[in-house]
Amino acid sequence: MEEMRANDPSRRTWVNVEEGSDFPIQNIPFGIAGLETKESVIVTRIGDWVMRLDVLATEGFFDSTGIPREAFESASLNDIMLGKAEIRALRNRISDLLEVNNEILRDDHDLLDSCMVRLEKCRMQLPVSIGDYTDFYSSREHATNVGTMFRDPDNALLPNWLHLPVGYHGRSSSIIVSGTDIRRPHGQQKPEDGPPVMGLSKLLDFELEMAFITFDGKPLGQSISTDEAENYIFGMCIFNDWSARDIQKWEYVPLGPFLAKNFASSMSPWVVTLDALDPFRTSSPKQDPEVLDYLKYTGDKNFDIELEVFIEPTSGTENRVCLSNFKHLYWNMSQQLAHHTINGCNIRRGDMLASGTISGPEPTSYGSMLEISWKGTKPIKLNDGTERKFIQDRDSVIMRAHCNNGSTKLGFGEVRTRVLESK
Ligand code: CA
Repeated sequence: MEEMRANDPSRRTWVNVEEGSDFPIQNIPFGIAGLETKESVIVTRIGDWVMRLDVLATEGFFDSTGIPREAFESASLNDIMLGKAEIRALRNRISDLLEVNNEILRDDHDLLDSCMVRLEKCRMQLPVSIGDYTDFYSSREHATNVGTMFRDPDNALLPNWLHLPVGYHGRSSSIIVSGTDIRRPHGQQKPEDGPPVMGLSKLLDFELEMAFITFDGKPLGQSISTDEAENYIFGMCIFNDWSARDIQKWEYVPLGPFLAKNFASSMSPWVVTLDALDPFRTSSPKQDPEVLDYLKYTGDKNFDIELEVFIEPTSGTENRVCLSNFKHLYWNMSQQLAHHTINGCNIRRGDMLASGTISGPEPTSYGSMLEISWKGTKPIKLNDGTERKFIQDRDSVIMRAHCNNGSTKLGFGEVRTRVLESK
C-alpha cells in the first residue's frame, strides 16, 4: 500500500484556501454534490471549492488508483469505496494534483473551468448509500449520566457496560444530510399518573455523535479483529442522532430504542477518511476491568477530534451549548467493529456505525440536552433571553468537529438541522 503522502503537513496548494479552513490540502474528504448541470456528482473539497472527480476520472487522472473510470459516474460514493488501498491512492493522487508546484491541473484553464465549482453553487447530498446502521453507546460519561438520572446513581452502569461495547441496530432510511429540516415527531407517551397518550414529543433532543462508514467486510460467518478493523473503515462524519426522550422513556424496555430514534438522524456531508485522521491519533481511556481477548488492541486507536454543538433559535444567533471530544470514548472504533463481527455478522460497503452520544467529564461537555439540562431541571439561557430544556420548533442544531495537532488543522464542516412544527 502507498504511504499517506497526502498527510504531509508541509504540502501547500495552488488553490486559494482561507486560513483556518476545515478543508486544507491535508484533508481531501469525499462527498456527493448536486450541481446545476448534473444531479449527483462525486466530489472532493479544498477550501470553499468543490472539485468534480467525475470530470477528472474521464480524463484518466485516476487510472492508477485501481478504481475504474465508470465508478466515478455514480451518484453515491459506494462505487469508489473499493478498499483502503484504492482510497489512499485516490487521495494521494488528488493531493498531488492540488500541490502548489504541480502544473497539470493548475495551468489547464479549460479543465479547471469544468472541474472546479464554488461551494455555494452545490447542494450537498447524502454521500453514501447507507446499508445497515448501528448505534453504539460508548461514552462512559454519557451512559453514567443517563443511568444516574433514570436508574440508580450508585449503579449507573449496567453490569455488561464495562465488558462490551453496547449497541443496537438502527434504521438507515431516515438518515438525512445536513441542511434537511425535520418535523417534530408524534408518539405514544406515558404521563407520570394516568394511562398512555398519543401526542407531540415535548422532549426533543439531539445526540452529539460521530459515525464511521465501512468498506466491504468479510463474508458471513467470519470476524474482523481489532488489528484488522481499521482496514475496513472508509472514513468518518459528524452525526446527530435525534431522540424523543418522552417516547423513548415509555417504549425502550425491553428491546431498546425504536420510534424515539428512527424518525431522523442527521449526518455531515463530507466523509473524512481514516487516513486523513491518522495524525490525530491518541490513546483511549484506560479500560478497567480488563477486557476479553477479542476486544484487546495495540496502539492508539482513538482520535483527538474536538466537537461542538450550537443551538440557533429562529431569530437569534448561535449559542454553543457543548464542547466535547471524540477521544473521551471508552470503546474505540476497532473494538466496536471487532465486537460487531465476533459472532460472524457481516459488514457491507456503506454500513454506518455511530459512536453513541459523546459526553466528556464536565457539564459543559455533555452531548445531549437530557444531560445539559439534567432531565429538564436545569434550563440553559440562550443569548436571545429565552431558555431551553430541550429543542423547540424552529431551532437549528449545529454540530462541528475539528482536529488540530499544531502542524495540521482540518475539520468535518458541520451538520445543521432545523426542527419544524409537526405536520
Ligand atoms: Ca444514540
